[in-house]
Parts: sequence; C-alpha cells; structure tokens
Amino acid sequence: MDITLIRKAIALIAKGIVEKDRLLEEQPNRYPHSKKLQHGINMFLYASLEWGGVGDGIFEYADESKFLHKYARIPIDEWFDDWETEAYSQLDLENQPFHGYGAFAYYRKKTNRYTPSEDCAVFLETQEANIVEGTDEFALYEKIIRLSQAEYCLVRRFIIEHPIMTIDERRDILIQLADNTIAKEAINVAYEQFQDKGYRCPVCGWTMIEGSYGPVCHSEYCVESAPNLDDAAAVDGTSETIYRLKKGVMRYFAQPGKLELDIVAFCEKKKLGWELWPQKDTYDVEITFPDGTVWEIDAKAYRNPIALRSKIENDNGLPDGDYQRGYFVIPTDFVKGNRQYTTIVNRGLDALHQPNVRCITMHQLKENINRKVAECCEKN
Ligand SMILES: [Zn+2]
Repeated sequence: MDITLIRKAIALIAKGIVEKDRLLEEQPNRYPHSKKLQHGINMFLYASLEWGGVGDGIFEYADESKFLHKYARIPIDEWFDDWETEAYSQLDLENQPFHGYGAFAYYRKKTNRYTPSEDCAVFLETQEANIVEGTDEFALYEKIIRLSQAEYCLVRRFIIEHPIMTIDERRDILIQLADNTIAKEAINVAYEQFQDKGYRCPVCGWTMIEGSYGPVCHSEYCVESAPNLDDAAAVDGTSETIYRLKKGVMRYFAQPGKLELDIVAFCEKKKLGWELWPQKDTYDVEITFPDGTVWEIDAKAYRNPIALRSKIENDNGLPDGDYQRGYFVIPTDFVKGNRQYTTIVNRGLDALHQPNVRCITMHQLKENINRKVAECCEKN
C-alpha cells in the first residue's frame, strides 16, 4: 500500500477540477478536458480496487462525469467510506493532510458545471510548490518581493484596499508609481478587466455576479450568509471600464490582508508601535509595547484548521526572531462551528517546539494585547 499515490491522486483531482473550471471560462463552447483530472481519477480508482477492496464495480467511475457526480460534492473522508477498515487504518487515512477537507466542488444544475470550492483551492495551496507556481498570486509575489520595503507596503496595501478599482483609481496609482516599473507591473499582474454586470460583494468587496444558480463571489462563504443584494452597489463593467483583482490574488492576498489591517487599526487605537510586513513579509504585523516587548503576528485566512496546520508545518512554524510571543491569528468567526480549531493547529506547533508561538482568534489577540497594555501601565 502506498499512501503517496493516494495523496498524489487527490492533489491531481483537485488541480483537475480547477483546470476544468478555467478551461470552461476561456472556451465556454468546448469540452474542458483535463488530463490531470483523468490521471488522478485513474490513480484513485486503482487504489480503491487494490487496497480498499471495493470490487471492480468501481470502474464505472472511470468516466469523468460519473466520478465528479459521486465524489466531487462530498467531503474527502467520505471518499473512503466503502474501503475495508483494515486498509483504512493501515494507511492511517484519518491523519492524512487531505482528511478533514470539505467537498472539492459544488454543482450548478442549470449549467451542469462543477465549480471548485474554497476547500479545493485551499487544499491546493498546501501542496507542493510546483502546483502553486504559475498561479496569479505567485506571479504577483515574484514582482513585489523585488520592491523596496516602502514600495512593497504601498503596493500591498493598495491591493488589499481595492478589490475593485475604477479607471481613475488605476490612473492615480500608476502615476504615484511612475518611476517604478516593477511596482507598475505588479499592479498590472494583480488586476484584470471586469467585463460583466454584477455587484460589489457586501462581504468582501470583490465582484459578485448573479449566476444561473444564485450569486457567485470568489468564495462560496460570501454567499452563504445570503447577502441582501438590494442594497449592494451595482458594478457594471459593460458600460464603464472597471478592474478587479484576479481571483487567486483576491483569495490569498487581499482576503487575509484585511485581517492584517484590522490588527494594525487596533494597535493604532491602543497607541502601540506597529509595523506592517516587516522585512517584506517575514511576519505580517510587528507590535511593540511601551516596555519594548515585541510580538510578531502572522494573519491567516484558512477556514480549515488542518490546512493551516499543514501550511505551518511546511513553513517550519514562525520564522525565528527576537520576539517574546508569536501568533498565527485567524478571523474570530472561523471557530464558530469548529471549537477545536486552535487546538488542532496548536498541536502542530507543539510538535515544532515553538512554545511561545500560538494560534489564536482575532478576539483573543485583542484580549491578550489589552492584558499586556495593562501590565505595562502597572509597571509605570
Ligand atoms: Zn465576496
């Protein structure tokens, strides 16, 4: 039995689902054939037959659409429901990085289309670099890492604060960056023209489109709370020139960035010293208290704790430095419905022997800051 093969199969399937969606976007009238998807399906079926002992009826699902119909819409751990218990435990399936992910796609009946879920995208992000390379967010990262610290912050902040930009905003930022070719390229890499009609998403500020099966944004979580589009500002890319962040940039760059700016706003309120993205993103926010104590913060927007834990493990925890405490901070609402979230991540940090680094919610971070500020006041 070979767990690597199963991991690879699942990564290829996730990648294939995203690839199919992109192909459909580019050429709506052609069948979006993804070799990666078929390859992943074949590997998974082979494993199911050889090791899972599911019987050769499984080959019915070698057909791509049959496979997607059965597997793409259910959580990954359910893919193994009919496997023999022995294989399940021998392969230690419960502790695999792919375990605990929700469905990779959701199905829209009217268009007969499988749209990749946020879990699918997040899962891919935790995979090997060769899967991440070639993405829009990687291209952007390669540009901005070459900028000076000040320009890096300027461009990054602009992108976070402008999920959508008008032609005037684009002109203004390009004028501001006039003598910096790389910074201008970064802006051009981050944005694409939006040529559709839609709304400004009331949740994240990106473009929300009324699809044939309800509104669609960069994440299904934006529409989960059934936003009221009556009050949302209309965005019409058919009658004026509008730019929006590319989807990957919105998801991996701008979305966690909001949390970073929230942390900074809180530090301002508490009159603490702060620096955004010190040493170009070694950390996200550095906080300095009146007694000179330094905390380093890394803001994370993964909804799945296992995804965050794998990401942190891949990065070997928080980079070493002269800080008293380090925090991986997540939005407070991510623990709703998953009370174990921080415990799961902190178990991973324990294994990395970083006792002064913890995963906490934004709410807990504020509490810890308040406590530390009170301590500093007592000393004076
Ligand atoms: Zn949104």
